[in-house]
Amino acid sequence: MYRLVLLDRDGVINHRPPPGHDGDPGNYIKTPGEWRPIAGGPEAVASLNALGCCVAVCTNQSGVGRGVMSAADLAAVHRHMETALRAAGARLDRVYVCPHHPREACACRKPRPGMLCAAMRDFGVTGPDTCFVGDSKRDVDAALAAGCEPILVRTGNGAEAEPGARAAGVRRVYDDLAAAAQSLAT
Ligand SMILES: [Mg+2]
Ligand SMILES: [Zn+2]
Repeated sequence: MYRLVLLDRDGVINHRPPPGHDGDPGNYIKTPGEWRPIAGGPEAVASLNALGCCVAVCTNQSGVGRGVMSAADLAAVHRHMETALRAAGARLDRVYVCPHHPREACACRKPRPGMLCAAMRDFGVTGPDTCFVGDSKRDVDAALAAGCEPILVRTGNGAEAEPGARAAGVRRVYDDLAAAAQSLAT
């Protein structure tokens, strides 16, 4: 059993944001009303909590760096997410965000492993005790670079990402976070 379970946000816990219209970068959840949980996602977090592992989110949110939303907007979205999770008996131990524009070439934007490494350091665990559940190839690449187990879910971008993820060596692929959490419990 993993001591630390890291989760991507969009496409794993909640639906991916809608595409933008022409000229609008889109694809960012900018307000609490745009946050919609994937069925079974909050309950899956609760079941991970019940296993006794730490659960944290690692999410790229370059909409902040692009000026599409403010840090306060993002904080309001995350307060809403935590409230929705709480209603399902679930809790996140921490939320890590990369708010940077890709051109800033920061160490935290996935596929770079910065957020995952920070989480492992903060929770006092190493790669073999950690997994990262994501729906994109860049999540897989971040997990591999951080030395933890990559897990792919087929929600969000995951079905599309599956062939590339498997080619990169991902062995654990599940239909959704609920199925992933169930397998982690056994
Ligand atoms: Mg995602
Ligand atoms: Zn960053």
